[in-house]
Amino acid sequence: MYFNHIIETLGNTPLVRLNKVTEGIKGTVLAKVEYFNPGNSVKDRMALRMIEDAEAAGILKPGGTIIEGTSGNTGMGLALTAIAKGYKTIFVMSDKQSKEKQDILRAVGAEVVICPVDVAPEDPRSYYSVAKRLNAETPNSFYPNQYDNMSNTAAHYEATGPEIWTGTEGKITHFAAGVGTGGTICGTSKYLKEQNPAVFTLGIDTYGSVFKKYKETGIFDENEIYPYKTEGIGEDILPKNVDFDVIDQFIKVTDKDGALMTRRLAKEEGLFVGWSCGSATHGALEYAREHLNEEDTMVIVLPDHGTRYLGKIYNDDWMRAQGWL
Ligand code: PMP
Repeated sequence: MYFNHIIETLGNTPLVRLNKVTEGIKGTVLAKVEYFNPGNSVKDRMALRMIEDAEAAGILKPGGTIIEGTSGNTGMGLALTAIAKGYKTIFVMSDKQSKEKQDILRAVGAEVVICPVDVAPEDPRSYYSVAKRLNAETPNSFYPNQYDNMSNTAAHYEATGPEIWTGTEGKITHFAAGVGTGGTICGTSKYLKEQNPAVFTLGIDTYGSVFKKYKETGIFDENEIYPYKTEGIGEDILPKNVDFDVIDQFIKVTDKDGALMTRRLAKEEGLFVGWSCGSATHGALEYAREHLNEEDTMVIVLPDHGTRYLGKIYNDDWMRAQGWL
């Protein structure tokens, strides 16, 4: 038995019980370990789907160039699919993302453009603006725009949701995931709530991001926006993929708490995962400690792999420089 291309190995990632970090918590807590995907992250699923939907719509044509603003993981997913299908890739990243993520994208043949993180989204230097400009300037190019492209949510509605529902034999009561573009949490949550409307969905947000306040007040509060270090979750915009109706509650997690929990996942559970995995777990367990009962089953999405953060949260010197060790 073999696969015709590495991208065919996508999906059907394992659910793994957390055993140590959950001490004192009632119920079962499972992690959906997304680093088993070929690009080592949850974003492979939607990258493939955005490309296939664009091909079907005639927006992406043979020999074309895919140009996307990415924190790294979507780029990896797009790059692998592009290799399989013969497209070129250009990725626009902010300078806050780890060096490893830039190097990984170059390793799989992509061109990488780095932009400053500390400018507003509408500033011509921002990675959103630069991606849009390159798309306009490059003939036969396609700008997936993962924030507003609903193929993102669709990929998780059609695969991540059913995988979790089947994997827990319908026993899931609580679902938790970090929120960046919103595709993972909203696609999965929509599917799960259609199977059982009582499933409770918890969104993990960062300090410095607009989501939690918006959910609670309906106000897009610019005062909520300030620089933070966690990669992949929290936003200074409201992406179309964030459907606040299928997220019941948000919890904010600090950079430090997320980093420390990520290191515990590696050391205590053998899960060598990325930073936002610790954020999601920290926030989810905070909720679980108070609300989970014996018969409950919570599933937490762990989006990516630890290799991408070796120079940061897994580096003791870097951690000490933050004052976090
Ligand atoms: N964690 C990491 C490391 C990510 O790269 C992303 C994608 N931005 C997320 C979490 C959030 O996923 P989503 O965009 O589907 O909300």
